Amino acid sequence: PRLANQIAAGEVVERPANIVKELVENALDAGADRIEIDAEQGGVKLLRIRDNGHGIGKDDLPLALSRHATSKITTLDDLEAVGSLGFRGEALASISSVTRLTLTSRAEQAEEAWQVTAEGRDMVASVAPAAHPQGTTIEVRDLFFNTPARRKFLRTEKTEFSHLEETVKRLALSRYDVGFTLRHNGKVIHAVRPASRDIDREKRVAQLLNPTFMDSAVHIEREAAGLTLQGWVGLPTFSRSQADMQYFFVNGRVVRDKLVVHAIKQAYRDVLYHGRHPAFALYLWLDPKLVDVNVHPTKHEVRFRDGRLVHDFLFRTLHKALADVRP
Ligand code: ADP
Ligand code: MG
Repeated sequence: PRLANQIAAGEVVERPANIVKELVENALDAGADRIEIDAEQGGVKLLRIRDNGHGIGKDDLPLALSRHATSKITTLDDLEAVGSLGFRGEALASISSVTRLTLTSRAEQAEEAWQVTAEGRDMVASVAPAAHPQGTTIEVRDLFFNTPARRKFLRTEKTEFSHLEETVKRLALSRYDVGFTLRHNGKVIHAVRPASRDIDREKRVAQLLNPTFMDSAVHIEREAAGLTLQGWVGLPTFSRSQADMQYFFVNGRVVRDKLVVHAIKQAYRDVLYHGRHPAFALYLWLDPKLVDVNVHPTKHEVRFRDGRLVHDFLFRTLHKALADVRP
């Protein structure tokens, strides 16, 4: 199964950012409202994700690191099939197969915390007592220490960290109710508190994306035909310098979608005669039955039941909002 894990890991663990995404999503699944992320050397040397979620009980600790389902791969030919499975139930197993991993956790109402360690193929089976408040800390060291061929594909510390930071930004933007701290080489890069009020949300977006974004941003808020759009779009004065600041969330999950970008750009161009990419942070909410966000677990694809309706709603909403503020 360890060989299988290494193959599966190749599909999804390409760089530290992928690991951060999986571990933070696990923390969110555990109901945490405080998540701390520490990275060293772009996350290649160390990643530590600490949460205050419901934790993992002693008996479940080794289980969390093992594959839930029987491995479906027996030969390399099955790789493609694995790709479509992505990380489902296999994140920790995959990550631990290419790193030195320590998992420490104290479950809700438990008296003690426990720790389990895994290193590449060799899992240390013993579970040892540890000191930890309620919640979980996962420490991952020396990414690809046992697969030098894969290590070669890692980029510079700066590049790896920027991917990692981008991942954290998206997660922090998608969950206003959770506090996030990101440190790199001991330095605090982002620290945002849980936000409940609108003003706090606005502050969080500005803090994470760019302090000057809100100075020229148009606030969007509209509900129609069961669709709700909320967020901010930057005017050209700001957008000109921020070609890639585009964040779109569907029911709280970050999404990259051609139809969405097309609708936004078209409204932007129509009203502002501006060809460049607009900067935006927008949140669309709709009946989950009308959208499939699981087209691919690791890509950010989405499939709307009624793409036309969504496109028109986005276009009209932005068109009106931008026309209202056109100088
Ligand atoms: P999945 O999230 O798809 O179930 P993972 O490999 O990511 O698979 O995690 C395995 C299991 O370990 C989870 O189902 C969960 O029970 C437990 N787990 C992982 N991380 C945490 C965490 N931060 N807090 C509580 N439980 C966790
Ligand atoms: Mg998971």
